Amino acid sequence: MSTKYVFVTGGVASSLGKGIIASSLAKLLQARGYKVTNQKLDPYINIDPGTLNPYEHGECYVTDDGAETDLDLGHYERFTGIPTSQANNITTGRIYQNVINKERRGDYLGKTVQIVPHITDEIKRNIKLLGAKGEYDVVITEIGGTVGDIESLPFIEAVRQLRWELGEKSVLIHLTLVPYLSATGELKTKPTQHSVKTLQEEGVQPDIIVLRTEHPLNNDLRKKVALFCNVKPEAVIQSVDVSTIYEVPIKMREEKLDEIVLEQLGLPLNSEPDLEDWTKFLYKLKNYTKEVRIGLVGKYVELHDAYKSIVEAFIHAGAVNDCKVNIEWIHSETLNEENAEAKLKNLHGILVAPGFGHRGINGKLVAIKYARTHNIPFLGICLGMQMAVIEFARDVLHLEGADSTEMSAKTPYPVIDLMASQMDVTEKGGTMRLGAYNCELKEGSKAYEAYGQKYIRERHRHRYEFNSQYREAFEKAGMVTTGINPETGLTEIIEIPAHKWFVGVQFHPEYRSTVTKPHPLFIAFIKACLS
Ligand code: GLN
Repeated sequence: MSTKYVFVTGGVASSLGKGIIASSLAKLLQARGYKVTNQKLDPYINIDPGTLNPYEHGECYVTDDGAETDLDLGHYERFTGIPTSQANNITTGRIYQNVINKERRGDYLGKTVQIVPHITDEIKRNIKLLGAKGEYDVVITEIGGTVGDIESLPFIEAVRQLRWELGEKSVLIHLTLVPYLSATGELKTKPTQHSVKTLQEEGVQPDIIVLRTEHPLNNDLRKKVALFCNVKPEAVIQSVDVSTIYEVPIKMREEKLDEIVLEQLGLPLNSEPDLEDWTKFLYKLKNYTKEVRIGLVGKYVELHDAYKSIVEAFIHAGAVNDCKVNIEWIHSETLNEENAEAKLKNLHGILVAPGFGHRGINGKLVAIKYARTHNIPFLGICLGMQMAVIEFARDVLHLEGADSTEMSAKTPYPVIDLMASQMDVTEKGGTMRLGAYNCELKEGSKAYEAYGQKYIRERHRHRYEFNSQYREAFEKAGMVTTGINPETGLTEIIEIPAHKWFVGVQFHPEYRSTVTKPHPLFIAFIKACLS
């Protein structure tokens, strides 16, 4: 079967949840037996979000093949369980880079290189690339930003051309907001009408309109949107606010989004979607019997999206444990020796987050010492693991001034040091140790117990590592390496066996947690917090 394409655009406001709608549709089509993949086109000039401050764009999500991508790819994977790759996230920067590289090679044979057709051709090539693999029945491509933005114009133009070429083989879903005016108690459709007009001015007609709304829409309102926007009334779909994003596939099923898309693509409905796992998960999510409080210590806590995958991994692992995980957001810059007791004593567990640079480091060390000395379950991720090593070096091994060479280049005890492979790296973008690597677990360790197997593969994003010269000294003092990369010998996991549950991982387990496969380390961590 030749691949069909679904495009998702957004209007009226940003952050309406295009990624969640796209992921929910993917889930529903997958549950009907279709092979799907989600793609995100981002209209910014950065080649990828790897160089972006999390305050700008939230978390940078890392794929198995080491692509640094938009956080929506995390939603795609969490909803469908299908791994994404570099091909699933393309930015304006990457499109232009490819075109300019071709121009420098002389590929354009003296032609003037222009947005149309050269940039739009490159965008179309990148959209079709996923379909060309022959692995997918449906490719769902989400266009970042809001219709009418200057930056998204070439993407919309590429979609216009591609839809013309594809004919019946594509569907366009436009997501907008229907604001509620509380003074008059009315839902307003005018912004949607304007947004669809903007899309039409750009030559694109939506087939389906999804309306984000705080209150349910009545039939008259649906008919009105259908009339003004040239779509069938049944293709006007409401997406009412729900308490968890994981309810959205169920809501979209009720609204028959999947059926409308399949009909318009000329594909059979197959059987009813099999959502048994999903509804079981939702039931557990809502019918918990226990609660835990976990402190998430980081320097970007004002913006919860900066730790998106961690938050979602807690939701998945909480459901497995019949437990609601309440996150206490602790800004590492505000935490110190004096207030540690007051801020941390009521926590059942502490997670120290990934990060870069010096800011907020002391607060992280204070949190780790508290967890270590009070036998509170601890999970350190990437920088969080490195900080656990430093705290142990200073406080237990009495290596005064022990540090990471990232924070202190001249430390007398570089217990965390630049990886050999990073020594000659000068450029910042895409040059870290990225993507999935093998790890061998030590039998009898907490990690081994959690995973229940000896060999695992996890995703990385770092430049520094545990300095193996110190391994023996650490082991003698009670902090042991329990996970090692079999090819390079790099330390991937450290633990304190005498502690209730103290685990630091150089990799990012949060990227691999999905609804149907919650991550074993998060499950074990919550379990330890409950015991
Ligand atoms: N800054 C550390 C490093 O580069 C940790 C990175 C991270 O937490 N993702 O090694």
